[in-house]
Amino acid sequence: MEVMMDRLRLDIAVTRLAKLQNLLDLACKEVLINILDGRIKGPQLVTVNLPTMLREHLMRVFEGKVCLPGHQSIEEFDRRYEAFKILLPARKIDLQALMSFCPIDSETRKSMFSKVMELIETKSPKVESLRIDLKRIISRECVLEISLLRDLKNLKKLDMPGCNIHLEDLMFLCREKIPTLQHVQVEIITISLTDFKNEENLLCPNLEVLKLQNVIVGDDTNFIFDFAKLKQLYWKPSTSKKAHLSHILAAPDLETLELFGNSFNWEAIENVSRLVSNGKILCKLVTFKYVGSRPQVPYLHNDDEQYTDFFSAMSKLIKNSMAFIPKLCDVSVFMCFGCMSWNNINEGRRIEDMTPDPSYCNCLTASVCKELKDETIFDFLEALNHRKKLLPRRGEF
Ligand SMILES: [Zn+2]
Repeated sequence: MEVMMDRLRLDIAVTRLAKLQNLLDLACKEVLINILDGRIKGPQLVTVNLPTMLREHLMRVFEGKVCLPGHQSIEEFDRRYEAFKILLPARKIDLQALMSFCPIDSETRKSMFSKVMELIETKSPKVESLRIDLKRIISRECVLEISLLRDLKNLKKLDMPGCNIHLEDLMFLCREKIPTLQHVQVEIITISLTDFKNEENLLCPNLEVLKLQNVIVGDDTNFIFDFAKLKQLYWKPSTSKKAHLSHILAAPDLETLELFGNSFNWEAIENVSRLVSNGKILCKLVTFKYVGSRPQVPYLHNDDEQYTDFFSAMSKLIKNSMAFIPKLCDVSVFMCFGCMSWNNINEGRRIEDMTPDPSYCNCLTASVCKELKDETIFDFLEALNHRKKLLPRRGEF
């Protein structure tokens, strides 16, 4: 009886909360329309003393409306800019929606972006999280002018998909311009040998999360990063040159390592797996994920045969990690043939969305591993699958 009463109460609670949420959404949409039409002016919103939670909800509603392709105009952008001004200050800002209304010629975009950044600096200097979709602001080939970013001294998280940046600028950003940064996402980092004259310049003191896509690192670069606090690294190197893994992985606190693609130098991977077996690096690693592609086997092309060096190096790294890293408990490995589309990457899908679906990826079968001259790796992967089956399911993995 009591259980039935509880279920009834639960139903009432759920319905009531859903109603409230609908009311909140409706109210925010209505307020936003009034702001956009100029019926609510900045000081009014301040005088009614809108609670922070409501103000933030208004901002999320504002950020949910993106311009339809071909409908950009400076008038509409200005209207939204004025509304944005009223919604500031905010702790968390995503500029994608606002910038999508700006006309697409690059000069206008750049000067409007500059205006928006200035506004944020004056009206919301304590912003903690900022997302700037640079694909919509500067052309992909352009390197980001660091001066466009204002000195936001409280910023902890900066996501810039589509951003192409020089390594020295990234270092300057983390060290001097915005030293509070803990989480940075950029897409292309250009590293030149001149960046390595002074090792001091390579320190990224507070960075905890780094996501890199299409990063080009020169072969002969003695890659010494001291990421003292780095906890999570996502890396998909550029396909044009093989990346060297060794030194970036020396970050002492690294807990999550996610590697994508096949563009890693296999000798450097062997070096990493040797250091792992000696307990020299990755001692605190908890999560290791690798997503790459494999050619068809038996091989169709001569090029494909070079893959075996890479495969055996990666396989050794997986085995050593599983055996010798004390806290490692979350390992996923995909070496796919055909079940994930690399077009996703070119289309700019986010790095964390590129994993093949574990429920149907069965690209590394026992016979494929045998073809690749490494039968034991299959047993390691089986041990992983077995362990996962024993664990209670936490959503999906
Ligand atoms: Zn697959």
